Amino acid sequence: MAYDENNVFAKILRNEIPCDKVYEDEHVLAFKDIEPQTPTHVLVVPKGAYSSFDDFSRNAPEAEIAGFIRAAGKIARDLGLVQPGYRILANTGPDAHQEVMHFHLHLFAGKDLGRMIKPPEK
Ligand code: AMP
Repeated sequence: MAYDENNVFAKILRNEIPCDKVYEDEHVLAFKDIEPQTPTHVLVVPKGAYSSFDDFSRNAPEAEIAGFIRAAGKIARDLGLVQPGYRILANTGPDAHQEVMHFHLHLFAGKDLGRMIKPPEK
């Protein structure tokens, strides 16, 4: 899928709209989700223009992938989440209801998250 430069995370990365920043480095910006699903809900976003996990895992240079994964782990450690625990999730494509077409990880924490995901309501 072609990358859409007008997606909301591209606008945040260009400082066109604000975010509640948690972390930033050469490869990554992380900020609080605007509609948190858990007490801690952080989005970890690569600075490169990748529309999805599929795009990122296929096309990103090794240094960007390594930098991204290292940053996600550091953010969780810095937020004190390793001991209580946390969940990371990347919605990819229609069945996963990916809404923003710029690759991102959700980092959920701050309560017992239950086992995996609930089935959709019928
Ligand atoms: P996804 O379904 O994985 O694409 O999730 C997109 C997430 O982005 C949702 O959890 C939204 O609440 C979140 N979101 C959308 N716009 C913003 C924004 N301006 N700042 C922070 N989070 C946002």
